Amino acid sequence: MQRVKSLLTPTLLVARHQTAGRGRAGRTWLSTPDGVLTFSLAWEFPAGAQSMMGLPLAVGVAIAERLLQLGVPVQLKWPNDILRNGKKLAGILVESQAGQTQSSWAVIGIGLNLSVPAELEREIGQEVADAAWLAQMDRNQLLAQLLQALQVALTEFSLQGFSAFVERWNRLHAHTQQTVVIMEQGEVLHQGIALGVDALGCLLLQTEQGEQRIHSGDVSLRPL
Ligand code: ATP
Repeated sequence: MQRVKSLLTPTLLVARHQTAGRGRAGRTWLSTPDGVLTFSLAWEFPAGAQSMMGLPLAVGVAIAERLLQLGVPVQLKWPNDILRNGKKLAGILVESQAGQTQSSWAVIGIGLNLSVPAELEREIGQEVADAAWLAQMDRNQLLAQLLQALQVALTEFSLQGFSAFVERWNRLHAHTQQTVVIMEQGEVLHQGIALGVDALGCLLLQTEQGEQRIHSGDVSLRPL
């Protein structure tokens, strides 16, 4: 993050072939040179900006809405994935540093599957989604579309925080009213019915003990 501070903002890094992609908690994000669009955007938010907590979800809304406009039917999985037919089409990793009196920073990493060969899917170890329609698009045009959506969303986020995105996120939620479990390091922490997210981006879960607010931290959601 220190090194990011010396970059001009915004800075965009696009990898034709990403060889050490990361997910949350040190998990790996795998790609092939032509099969996955991978890029990172460093963005600075003005001093006194909103809590960074809902930022990964706001980014999900921006990317998902633009993919829908481009004709790809997608939904959101809490907290940070974009699904197509219930399988992961894109992953989002946001690393941020909130400043009180100074500006806040975020590096937003996105991996979007365009055309995933069977060997890569085997390596990932689960079925994933891709989007042949996007794979046919000019790569720079696609990137420009996504960046334009992000620019609008990040400006909105600086002014209003995640509250501007709650309804939009909930409209795209893949698991509304479905029974899900929340896992942490392989252990089930909670089981309940997913209701949607609140104004901070926490998942609202109806459990036998009442409604719980789940902070993303390092927990993962699994549909039952
Ligand atoms: P989970 O996917 O287990 O719910 P998560 O959403 O937090 O957890 P991330 O950290 O966002 O996972 O992403 C890393 C995970 O994504 C890897 O553990 C792997 O299962 C999966 N993965 C890696 N590469 C790809 C890819 N190209 N397409 C889809 N999924 C991938």
